Order: sequence, then C-alpha cells, then structure tokens
Amino acid sequence: MAITRFAPSPTGYLHIGGLRTSLYNYLWARKTNGEFRLRIEDTDTARNNEEAMKAIISAFEWVGLNYDGEVFYQSKRTDIYKVYIDKLLENGNAYKCYMSRDELDSLRASQEAAKQNPRYDGTWRPEAGKILPKIPADVEPVIRIKAPTSGTIEFEDGVKGSMKFDANQVDDFVIARSNGMPTYNFVVAIDDALMNMTDVIRGDDHLSNTPKQIVVYNALGFKVPKFYHVPMINNPSGKKLSKRDGAMDVMDYKNLGYLPEALLNFLVRLGWSNGDQEIFSMDEMLELFDPSNINKSSSSYNGEKLLWLNSEYIKAVSNDRLIEELKFFDLDLSHHPKKTELLDLSKQRAQTVVELKKSITDILDIPTYYEENGVKKFVKEDTKDFLEKYLELLEKNKEDLYNIENVEAITKPFIHEFGLKFPQLFQPIRIALTGGTQAPSVYDIIAILGFNEVSSRLKEALK
Ligand code: GLU
Repeated sequence: MAITRFAPSPTGYLHIGGLRTSLYNYLWARKTNGEFRLRIEDTDTARNNEEAMKAIISAFEWVGLNYDGEVFYQSKRTDIYKVYIDKLLENGNAYKCYMSRDELDSLRASQEAAKQNPRYDGTWRPEAGKILPKIPADVEPVIRIKAPTSGTIEFEDGVKGSMKFDANQVDDFVIARSNGMPTYNFVVAIDDALMNMTDVIRGDDHLSNTPKQIVVYNALGFKVPKFYHVPMINNPSGKKLSKRDGAMDVMDYKNLGYLPEALLNFLVRLGWSNGDQEIFSMDEMLELFDPSNINKSSSSYNGEKLLWLNSEYIKAVSNDRLIEELKFFDLDLSHHPKKTELLDLSKQRAQTVVELKKSITDILDIPTYYEENGVKKFVKEDTKDFLEKYLELLEKNKEDLYNIENVEAITKPFIHEFGLKFPQLFQPIRIALTGGTQAPSVYDIIAILGFNEVSSRLKEALK
C-alpha cells in the first residue's frame, strides 16, 4: 500500500511536468489501494500567490486526479516544525550558529577563491572537547543540522538505481532561519515523514535535495521513503521544454480543446511505457503502471502525438460527453434534433474540441460570406443552371432527405445524367451551404440541415 503525494509550490501555474509526476503518484497510490495526498508547499511567502494555488487545485479537478483527505498547507504547520526543531536541538543533532552575514560572506569568498564548493565550516558545531566561540550579542542565530562529516549518504532510487553522495557534498545546512522560519528541505522531510509517505515520485531536479532530506530523517529516526526521481521532459531537440514547446499551464490545454484523458494518456507515456502500447484507459494505466518501470532517460515532448491521442479520444468518448465539452466553448447541442448526426460526422475529423466546434458550426451557421478562391475555382457559367435543377430534384424528394443513403441515392443519378464530375456539383453546394470548400460530405450536410434550410441557403447563393 503506497502513500504518495503531490507537493506543488504555488508560485505559478501547474505545468505538465508537475501533472505528470502527480499522475504517477496518483496511479501508484490507487493501484496499491493506498492514499494520494495533496500538500501545498507555501512557505515561501514572498513568491506564493493565492491565484496560483486556486489554479493548481482547479487543474487537478479538471483532470480528475482526486486526492484523499484534506489539503495540507505548509504555511499552517509552523508550530509542528518548531516541535521538531526543538527536538533536534535537544537530542544534539542540531545547533545554533551565530556566524554573522559578513563572516559567512567572507567564508564563501575564500572558498570560491580556492575553487572549493561553498560549505559551512563547522565553526559553531558542537563536538566533544571542542570550545565554541563566545556568543556575540548582536547576532540572531540560525539553526543548523548536524550532517555526517565522513562516509556517504546512500539510497536506492527507484528510477536511477543506487545513489551515493559523498558526505562532504552536504554541509550542516540551515533548518531554521534567524527569524525562526524553517527551511525548504527541512519541512519537506518533516511533512513526508509525518504524512507517512512510503513513496516519493518527483522530478529529478529534486535529486540534489534528497541527501539533505535523508539527513533530517536520520536525525529524527524517521523511516526514509522510497524515492523515484523522474527525468525531465525535453523538447524534440533535447533542450529544456519551453512555453512554446508545450510547457504551458495545464488549463491552457483545456482552452485549446484537449480532453483530460488524452492529456493524461500522453503524460503517462512521457517517461513510462508498456511495450509499444500508446493508448491507455485509466483502468489500464492503473493495472499496468509501476514506478519501477519509469524510463531512466529524459523524454521528448511530441505535440503531434498529443493531437493524435486527442483525436482518438474525441472519437472514443460518448456524444453526451462531447456535448458537455462543447458547452465550455459556448456551443450547446443538448436540444438539437440532429445532435447525433452532427457529432458522429464532425468527430471523425476533429483533433480538438475547438476543431469539433468549428466543424459543427460550419454546418449549422448560415454562411456570412463565400470563400473567394473556392468561388473562383468551382463556380462556372453552367453552375447556376444545374444547381437550380438539383434544388428542384431535392424538392421533389424532400420527405426522403433525412439520411445520407437517401440523399446519395437521389444525387448519384443526377450527376450521371448531367455528365458531371463530383466536385463540379459538390464544391459549389458546399460553398452555398457552408461558405467554404472544407466542410464534410455534402450528403451529410443535406441530411443534417433538411430540405428547408438547404433550399434557403441554395436560393440565397443563387441570387
Ligand atoms: N514543491 C516542490 C515543487 O513544486 C516539490 C517538492 C517535492 O516533490 O518534494 O517543485
């Protein structure tokens, strides 16, 4: 039973990298009948913002990754962190450091000059037999944790394998600032321990934080969770994903007409695979996902694939669902008598809900102009003549125009009789009925619009 979490910092919107790691955490928790928790890491008061927090929670709601229990806010847990800082001071695993800003700066400068990594030199670290400097009157101390001074800090990463950090890579880092505020790596470790996290799946940009967090676990005797550090998502040229490549707010995908299940399917495959299977329902993801199969190398964002997946999901979900999705784009088909025909037809070609809407409104909306190039190319001297004849034919059969088979059966002999090529008839009709040449099959449009509407649009065009 895995207890996992997603722990966003509300300093900006939820981006797809964050959504991908939360999906992995979600799947692992649900698959093992565990718990998936949401923790808002809002201790950086200067960078947090309320709007970002709401945006993250609504993005979660949109994709349907439900979390268990209440949301944890780190900003509300200061008293808890204080208890553990005091505990560490008491058990001797943390100490007060009175090094002034100036002293610290000059220490850094001399380390930099000697090409050493900046690290605290242990001046205030208590050791048996060591005499500490005299406490200065004008310095508020920070609290530092005692990190090991030799050996290695090791853990088995579920993605990267056995990880070993030389102890000298981790110094006695600050766990509480001079104003008493606890620091990032400290609170993450405390929360993960108190929330009983068994598995932490996160971006590998956090890998260097992990040895520090392990120092905190060890200092308090907490059990270290299993870590999985997931490689980044790159753009197709192997560089960090930028906004233009798709590193957008998850909610932008909604506005562009993506279905959440397509986005989740896309994300599960960005960094994890099951043979060459591309399409995964949520049930399949739950059945097959295992974080120990997460890819070791970074993955590449492929916008074409996302579009393809989205078009597959648009074809696969129910029409009722599409009707709901279209409402978000201000198109309500719920009471339209031909909604099934409209959707069955338009969803075949739509890659996004925005395209679906366009294809439907291209049929439903009375054209306000006729595409110039199309008119030039397809409207000839005799066009008017056979369109009038075709309209007469439709009128004669107006009771039968309710399905495409009938429209086809009426139209084909007409085309032969006049020795026409299909585009000669169909393109001018398309233009007359929809304004453009791109709309779907004329038989469908006629069957959907019915005789009266077809007749009025044709007459308008023939004026
Ligand atoms: N708050 C961190 C972030 O938004 C995640 C911390 C973690 O997963 O441990 O990047």
